Amino acid sequence: MKQHIGVVQTIPDFQSELEVLAGRLQEGQPEIPSAILVQLFFSSDNLEWINQVTDAVLTVMPEAIVVGATTDGEIANGKTLTNSTVFSISVFAKTTLRVVADTCLPGEELALGEGLRDQLLKQEQQIAGVLFLATPLSINVSSLLDGLASEGINFPLFGGGAGDYAVMEHSLVIANRQTIDCGAVVVALISDDLVIKEYTYSGWMPLTREMTITATKNDRIATEIDGRPAYDVYSGYLGIENDQQFFLNSLEFPFLVKRDNELLGRTPMKATEDGGIHFIADVKPGDKFRIGYGDPKEIIAHAKHARDELGKFCPEAIFLYTCCCRRFLMQNDVEMETLPFEEVAPTAGFYTYGEFLGKGSHISHYNSTMLVVGMREGEPKQPMDCDVVSWAPEADLADKPDLYKNQHIRVVTQLIHFIETITAELEDRNRELMQLAVTDKLTGLFNRAKLDQVLDEEIVRHNRYGTEFCVIMADIDDFKMINDTFGHHKGDAALMAFSDILRQSIRANDTAGRWGGEEFLIVLPHTSVDAAAQTAEKIRALVASGDYGEVKTVTASFGVLAHKSGETVDDLLLRADMALYAAKRKGRNAVVCQ
Ligand code: GH3
Ligand code: MG
Ligand code: MG
Repeated sequence: MKQHIGVVQTIPDFQSELEVLAGRLQEGQPEIPSAILVQLFFSSDNLEWINQVTDAVLTVMPEAIVVGATTDGEIANGKTLTNSTVFSISVFAKTTLRVVADTCLPGEELALGEGLRDQLLKQEQQIAGVLFLATPLSINVSSLLDGLASEGINFPLFGGGAGDYAVMEHSLVIANRQTIDCGAVVVALISDDLVIKEYTYSGWMPLTREMTITATKNDRIATEIDGRPAYDVYSGYLGIENDQQFFLNSLEFPFLVKRDNELLGRTPMKATEDGGIHFIADVKPGDKFRIGYGDPKEIIAHAKHARDELGKFCPEAIFLYTCCCRRFLMQNDVEMETLPFEEVAPTAGFYTYGEFLGKGSHISHYNSTMLVVGMREGEPKQPMDCDVVSWAPEADLADKPDLYKNQHIRVVTQLIHFIETITAELEDRNRELMQLAVTDKLTGLFNRAKLDQVLDEEIVRHNRYGTEFCVIMADIDDFKMINDTFGHHKGDAALMAFSDILRQSIRANDTAGRWGGEEFLIVLPHTSVDAAAQTAEKIRALVASGDYGEVKTVTASFGVLAHKSGETVDDLLLRADMALYAAKRKGRNAVVCQ
């Protein structure tokens, strides 16, 4: 394949450029094409202009497939442009194309995805890859992608969401003469010969503590975070007003959501009137996330790595689908990320509202991400054509002596480091405090507050899943006498020795804690009453045979029982007390099972 990339200045100039290319192709230079894919990236949704540009292509090259999108910045030959119209013409030698485009209403995305999948797969042909463009401002593209992947796909699907220069009102995708503001366009690249290699990276680093989205609406609106109104939590960290500038101000601070070992960016699009946050991609209740910020140093390091990796693959064309937030973060230095790819192969693309990549049963919907797609037909060409230049930092610096003229970037890197350090310190401190809050100081066992929490959780689990659990209530016998005879210190030592025996006698799932004074409680999940009684008996015997020095003997009594369905914590503890009391009445140093 061969790539021709440029900027449309005027329609007549563009048309003449196309005519020269078409003339060469007709003469079979370098060969007769099997298909021509023209991608157009528009900075504006001006339909008159879009139609003129599309018409120019289809007039000169009626056999071409034309697709495109409005953007948040355009990329031509690795350069980042704004307010332009970029064309990328891929001339294939052995690949054919099928384009499918459709519209849908909000709520019908899954069905649209399934429909597109059926149309893509209806012919028994070898699909090497699929280019996918959609309008995330008007529809839930995550759901559309679920529909597309619902029966699995055995080719890579890649692409981006159409943008509108941060206005957040109207974006378009294009398929030949059709413009779509609520839907998607897919182009199947059909070939035995085409090979595609994709690469994604983010460079966005989590900054805050981990939080959980606790309530959502319409799949894309987070209404609550950790039980509080979502916007309050977000603006509490960033001081972002709920105004016209919300998207621009929040763009660089996406939620980084942990899902199935992936860290997915989720960029806030707008704040809703009822205190929610509307995202470009889907959010789910239970999603755990941190708010993140881009680290320019990381981004540049990733870009170099991606370029080197792609270099080894020797692509003939590279397409970049890169989140608009990267342009806002990197500002004047954004080309440090896009330009290196041009050294490997002609590079075109656009700044997106969402990046899409998947294969198999799942297509990921990213935000804040750079998606790099390299492709070539056939085997790698001669090494001359695809020389892998390993990135030499010194050469970079020589190329760009003013690398950090933009102080913004250096300051950002340092601030990120600063915030990461503070966050890590606070997290360590929080962990310590949380540990202290649930620990009994003398024995190191859990305290009553933690036991209360565990009991509540076990009852919730029982009500939901029907799981069973037991408790053992233990009380040291004649402890007052130990104190009175040997003094409080010896009493304390006996409490600690007793606690060590408890700790060593329970399983990892069990919870042992000090209920108060010389009373202890053990909660044993997924345990039969017989097994709990055996545990109690084992502890009783160990306590009775323990070595307590001067104190000589320490014994304890135990009440054991299984939680009954419908029983509250108070009911359960009352019964445990009664069982314990029965053990005392039996003469102490005994286990009574109810
Ligand atoms: P029984 O066999 O019926 O349980 O008799 P007991 O003497 O163990 O029970 P009682 O409730 O009469 O006495 C418990 C004593 O435990 C009273 C209290 O001073 C002592 N105690 C409570 N907490 C501590 C502690 O942290 N350290 C020490 N040394 N003693 C404690
Ligand atoms: Mg006692
Ligand atoms: Mg007692």
